[in-house]
Amino acid sequence: MLRCGFWLLAVCFWLLVSCSEEPTANSQGPIAYQSPVDYEITLAGNFGEPRPWHFHGGIDIKTGNVEGKRIYSIADGYVSRITVNMYGFGNAIYVSHPDGHTSVYCHLQRFADQYEAQLQRTGKDTLSLVFPETKYPVHAGDLIAISGNTGHSTGPHLHLEIHDTDTWVMRDPMAYLGHLIADTVAPQAHSFMAIPVQGEGVFNGGSDKQTFGFGMPDIKKQHTTWTLSRPFTAWGRVGFALWADDYAQDTYHHYGIRYMQLLVDGREVFHSDVDSIPISCQREVNLWGDYQHWRRNRTWYMKAYKEPGMRLPILHTDIHRGIVHFKEQRPYHLTFLLRDYQGNQSEWNYTVIGEPRTLKGSRHNTPLLLNRYLLFLQCLWPRYSFRDSGQ
Ligand SMILES: [Zn+2]
Repeated sequence: MLRCGFWLLAVCFWLLVSCSEEPTANSQGPIAYQSPVDYEITLAGNFGEPRPWHFHGGIDIKTGNVEGKRIYSIADGYVSRITVNMYGFGNAIYVSHPDGHTSVYCHLQRFADQYEAQLQRTGKDTLSLVFPETKYPVHAGDLIAISGNTGHSTGPHLHLEIHDTDTWVMRDPMAYLGHLIADTVAPQAHSFMAIPVQGEGVFNGGSDKQTFGFGMPDIKKQHTTWTLSRPFTAWGRVGFALWADDYAQDTYHHYGIRYMQLLVDGREVFHSDVDSIPISCQREVNLWGDYQHWRRNRTWYMKAYKEPGMRLPILHTDIHRGIVHFKEQRPYHLTFLLRDYQGNQSEWNYTVIGEPRTLKGSRHNTPLLLNRYLLFLQCLWPRYSFRDSGQ
């Protein structure tokens, strides 16, 4: 039993350490990327959206609610793999590019004829075929597949991922295709959460986490500044989290937040930039977001601070991990700044008055225990393979 516990701890430690890998690019110079479809792109989902136990690993390109759209390679390279599965990506085709990236096209109805011919020879429903560099070279714009609704998909669409070929770090496809996607609408915050550090902080007289709506009407603008006139009070150490969504014009869909920053009196205490995610960090979405709140309410509050032990490389904080320390009797001006890939930006301001309160004293162990519990669950839960990371 002891030995079993040791190995469990060792695996947890490995998960922690492996998540600390910085994404590494294997670039051999930039190459040109173009659209995988022959019509204007509208997204049904974007990269990095928080989901239970994983980030959305790519972008969802709409196919007009139908199957049968022609799918093209987004850049020069070669078809390195095709997979067929009832779950996960369904029918998927992988194209490796000379700049060190691999693009993955998922939920396909079928592949272009030369690849379909390969499948028929095997006669299997679930398979993975890997091809050498010389077998199927492709150019940008070559037809590679027909869109569909296979695998874990709730409706016809194209799920497209871009990875570093060597490390399989997931990249935001907007960095390659963003010039093809129109967006003139800023992200919008719905409400913030105040999370006093247990025994060390109080917010509005309470030591439990509380949420406060911004109450802004739902308007789609390129730039927005919104200030809550209602004042708040706090004393001691308090973390903050935000429920927000990004939007685009002419569509009802909403998206995850690419960039979030928390400023206190104009000084940055936290920012996140969801440009890439190491595959081994998928589970930390439940620590960055308030997973317990999501289970009850189906909304993600993303923390503007780091829980102890977190390694997700897209989070950046001051030396206090982003926790704000209210220790003077004065107004503190807080600003959440949100920005999408195209630079549409919004600011969400509120004022917190420092008001002395008696604090119960430090109880450092609670967040650490919570983290260890979640990491323990990570060890027990089967790890997603990269082929199952998206939907
Ligand atoms: Zn998807």
